[in-house]
Amino acid sequence: MKFSLQHDLHCHTYLSSCCADPAMTPEMIYQRAKRQGLTVQCITDHLWDADVPGSSDWYKPQDIAHVEKNKAALASLPKEGPRMCFGCETEYCGGGKLGLAPEHFDRFDWIVIPPNHFHMKNFTRMAEVDTEEKAAELFLQRLEEISRLELPWHKIGIAHLNCRHTFKEGDYAKVFALMDEMRLRAVFEIFASRGAGIELNTSGFADGWEERREEHLRLFRIARDAGCRFYLGSDAHSPEAMEVMQARAARVITLLELTEEQRFQL
Ligand SMILES: [Zn+2]
Ligand SMILES: [Zn+2]
Repeated sequence: MKFSLQHDLHCHTYLSSCCADPAMTPEMIYQRAKRQGLTVQCITDHLWDADVPGSSDWYKPQDIAHVEKNKAALASLPKEGPRMCFGCETEYCGGGKLGLAPEHFDRFDWIVIPPNHFHMKNFTRMAEVDTEEKAAELFLQRLEEISRLELPWHKIGIAHLNCRHTFKEGDYAKVFALMDEMRLRAVFEIFASRGAGIELNTSGFADGWEERREEHLRLFRIARDAGCRFYLGSDAHSPEAMEVMQARAARVITLLELTEEQRFQL
């Protein structure tokens, strides 16, 4: 059966401070999702729980009270159309430091964890990680550490593996090629057995990505062969990014030869 494209499990509202668009309200996201025929739409604003020490200045305002401002808007939406889920995108900084305390896991329907938001120096990445080789090692370590955390795995998404933030000051696609195959296979086998979702983030498959096609697909192929399941995320910070998700995803799904049985279901 064909992999269904009728869901978006990663989308930002105006409550994410990187989202400059006041139109990105839960109501508007719901309307667009409905028009596209989606059955599930998550909102996943950037989150750092005030109960977890060591926030960055950027993350400090993005606490639970802040992102929960959307809960009332979500509750007031019509019950037909796409199922609207309240999620978050938090951070993992290494050494077991996750930006959401375990006692607050149940306040979210869905939790997206990016293993490679390495543009935030001295927060998610130490400054001495300054080459593609070192970024590849850090990325692997982060995946391995996340796989050993105690998490509600049925509602955990591993975000954007081919994100450009992996190494902005260099050749980020090369980072994916440098990562050790055996260790990747082992860590994706753990994610598969835990039941986590692996994200196909269509912001990472923007025009021109196929010039480095094999690098971009490498981790996803290994994850697929390890038995992982996948979901789509627009990572939209604007209405336009919501609109291009399905067309971009269709191409990636074809190249990865994914079927509906390999789709992660929230
Ligand atoms: Zn953002
Ligand atoms: Zn992200």
